[in-house]
Amino acid sequence: MSRESAAVEKHREAPRKGSPSLPDYRGYFGEFGGRFVSETLMPALLELEEAFRSAWRDSSFRKEFYGMLAEYSGRPTPLYLAESLSREMGGARIWLKREDLNHTGAHKITNAVGQALLARRMGKSRLIAETGAGQHGVATATVAAKLGFSCQIYMGSEDVRRQALNVFRMKLLGATVSPVDLGGRTLKDAISEALRDWSRTVGETHYLLGTAFGPHPFPLMVRTFQSVIGQEARRQFLRRVGALPEALVACVGGGSNAIGLFHPFVKDAGVRMYGVEAGGISISPGLHAARFAGGSVGVLQGTRTYVLQNPDGQIENTHSVSAGLDYSAVGPELAYYRNAGRIVFDSVGDDEALEAFRTLSRTEGIIPALESSHAVAYALRLARTLPRESNILVNLSGRGDKDVMEVSRILEGKGERL
Ligand SMILES: *Cc1c(COP(=O)(O)O)cnc(C)c1O
Repeated sequence: MSRESAAVEKHREAPRKGSPSLPDYRGYFGEFGGRFVSETLMPALLELEEAFRSAWRDSSFRKEFYGMLAEYSGRPTPLYLAESLSREMGGARIWLKREDLNHTGAHKITNAVGQALLARRMGKSRLIAETGAGQHGVATATVAAKLGFSCQIYMGSEDVRRQALNVFRMKLLGATVSPVDLGGRTLKDAISEALRDWSRTVGETHYLLGTAFGPHPFPLMVRTFQSVIGQEARRQFLRRVGALPEALVACVGGGSNAIGLFHPFVKDAGVRMYGVEAGGISISPGLHAARFAGGSVGVLQGTRTYVLQNPDGQIENTHSVSAGLDYSAVGPELAYYRNAGRIVFDSVGDDEALEAFRTLSRTEGIIPALESSHAVAYALRLARTLPRESNILVNLSGRGDKDVMEVSRILEGKGERL
C-alpha cells in the first residue's frame, strides 16, 4: 500500500454507529432548527423533504449532481498551498480550498445545481430565490438558464439600488428581478417575500434557498450539497500531506460554506474548526453581524437559532463590509456544534478583513471575496500562534472581482492610495 493510500485508509471516517444522525426527523439539531412556518407552507416543505431524501438515496441522482459540478462548475476545486503568504506570516502553513474558482465565482453554484436538479426531478418548471448582494440570485439565474426553468429573484429594493451590476447579470441570464419594498428592504424582507410566493405557487415552483438556513429540510439539504467541499478537501489533504490539517477556517454568513467544509471532518477529533463571523465596526448593536457574540436564541424565518435581537425580540440591524455575511441569524447546525464545543466561533472586523483582502492579493495573486477575507484574516492570526509544521486549511469561498470597486471607494474615503 502506498503512503498516501495508507493515510487515506487510516483516516477513513469512523463508523457512525451509536451516534445519532442529525437533524432528527423533525429537523432539529439538538435544540436548534425545526420548521416554524405557517400551515400554508407545510405541504411544500414535506414534499421537498420526501423528494430530497429519495433523490439522495438514488445513485443516478448523485451521479447527475457530481457530473454537473464537474462539467459545468469546474469541480473538484484545487487545494492550494499559499507559500508566500505562509512565509510572510512566519508561522503555520496556510492552505486554500479554491471555491473562488467555481463558475460564477463562489461556492453558491453548488447548492444551486443540487436544488435545481432536484426541482427538475420533482417536475417543477419555475425557480424562485432570495438574494442580498446578488451572488445567490446570479447562481440561481445561471442554473435556471442552463436547465430551462423560468426564474424570479426577490431582492430588497435597497439592495437592487446598491447592486445594479448583479441585477443586470440576472436579467441577462433571463431572470425576472422583483424589488421588495417592505421592512428594511434588504435580504430578510426578500426571504419573507419568496416564502410568501412559494406558499401560493408550490405546484409549479421550487424555492431555491441560498444557505444552510430556514425551515427543515433546507439546512440539511444545503449542507448535504455543500459537503462536497469538505469531502474533496479531506481527500486532497490526505493525498498531498499524508495527514489531516490541524485547523479549518471558514467565514460564516448563513453558514453554508462553513458547514460544507466542516461536516466531513466533524468526527476527526484532531481537527479544530473555526467559524468567523463579521465583527463589522464594533460588537455593539447594529454595528456587526456576529450572532454568537451578540445574539441570543430565538426563532427567525422558520428556524430556531442564534439571532441578533433586542430583549423584546425585535430583530437588530446588522453591518458588515461584506454583504454576504451581513445577516441577523445563523444556520441551526452551526449553533448546535458551537454549543457542543465542536466548532469555535470568533469575529473579524471590517478593517482586519480589508487588510487580509490586500495581503492575499499582494502575496499570492489571488483577490478574495470580502466574505472570504474574514476567514483569511483569522487564519493569519492563528498561523502566528502555531508551529511551522502545522497546517491550516482556509475555505476561500469566493473571488473578489465583485468587491474591487467597493474596496477602492473605501480606501479613497480613508485617504489611502495604492
Ligand atoms: C454568500 C457568500 C458567503 C456567505 O454565505 P454562507 O452561506 O455563510 O457560506 C460567503 N462567501 C461568499 C463568497 C459568498 O458569496
